[in-house]
Amino acid sequence: MTILLRPHDIRHIVQQVGLAAVLGKLESCLRDDFLRWEEFDKTARVATHSSVGVIELMPVADDSLYAFKYVNGHPGNPKLGLPTVMAFGALAEVLTGKPIVLSELTLTTALRTAATSVLAARTLARPNSRTMALIGNGSQSEFQALAFHYLLGIDELRLYDVDPAATQKLVQNLSAISGLRTTVCHSTAEAVTGADIVTTVTADKTNAIILEKHMLEPGMHINAVGGDCPGKTELATDVLLSATTFVEFEEQSRIEGEIQHMPADYPVKLLWKVLAGEQTGRHSNEEITVFDSVGFALEDYTALRLMQEYAQQHGLGETIELVPDLQNPKNLFGELLGCVEKQPI
Ligand code: NAD
Repeated sequence: MTILLRPHDIRHIVQQVGLAAVLGKLESCLRDDFLRWEEFDKTARVATHSSVGVIELMPVADDSLYAFKYVNGHPGNPKLGLPTVMAFGALAEVLTGKPIVLSELTLTTALRTAATSVLAARTLARPNSRTMALIGNGSQSEFQALAFHYLLGIDELRLYDVDPAATQKLVQNLSAISGLRTTVCHSTAEAVTGADIVTTVTADKTNAIILEKHMLEPGMHINAVGGDCPGKTELATDVLLSATTFVEFEEQSRIEGEIQHMPADYPVKLLWKVLAGEQTGRHSNEEITVFDSVGFALEDYTALRLMQEYAQQHGLGETIELVPDLQNPKNLFGELLGCVEKQPI
């Protein structure tokens, strides 16, 4: 039998455990799994592109569990009444291939992306960072804002989106959070002025130039989340040339990340190696660091496992027969025959 986790199960988990605790636990589980990097069978995700978006499959496995995520990216979806990003996925036993969890991953992706951003920023941003510019105020933005507030102590957000209604929604959703100030800005340049951390989380199917070199200030950490697909990026190349860049899975990031514009020998550092102490993170208070986030399957593996654990603890999720539950594993046809009317074959 398989456990089905729906969006309302994830809502219950967040209500019962608390958002800050879920994000904090996700960050620590992500760290643990990044430190097990060599144990995973890793593949760059498989993308199917169309003129309006992309649909991707993201597999990963260790010795005991296989995980995959289905995810789309359609920046025009909100105009059609749908989110830009929607996802679901599964965990299966490597030993037998049996699916053990089938889960929504739209809410869970937003949680895991924010926790991964914090995991990177904890190592790469200056330790006394308090102000973050948040460019792109859509679905992911509250998750990013609150993860940085709860886990890293960001207490001032400078917001900008080309859609003022998106910024208004973000301000409204954050209004009840004590100790978090928000300032609405009228341009990216205004928003990033004086920011310790800049999070870009915009959606547009183009090589956008959200952040330019003249906007950089010494010591900034850039958390570049929105550029995650060939032909869909956010940073000017001279931003990358002015910075040290860190990636998740290099093979995938060279195709999908900001670094798709850079020559093959453009140097990058690997987040997992920095976490493991095998590569250095930030060298000085003046260095500019970029986390070129594209989202890697390992992060979904971590999130699926954690949500499975929370669901077990809180009695959530529905047990479903996703694959036939056979008394005789060789009699698959008998399973079919049991529910069709007797008729000549
Ligand atoms: P969304 O459509 O809900 O929000 C995107 C926002 O960006 C919109 O409000 C839009 O008006 C704004 N925007 C577009 N162009 C802009 C510009 N030039 N300047 C300022 N704002 C601009 O999308 P979302 O679900 O919040 O996702 C945001 C991005 O993050 C997407 O590109 C998505 O693919 C990406 N994403 C990445 C990861 C990852 O792991 N790296 C995970 C999830 C989503």
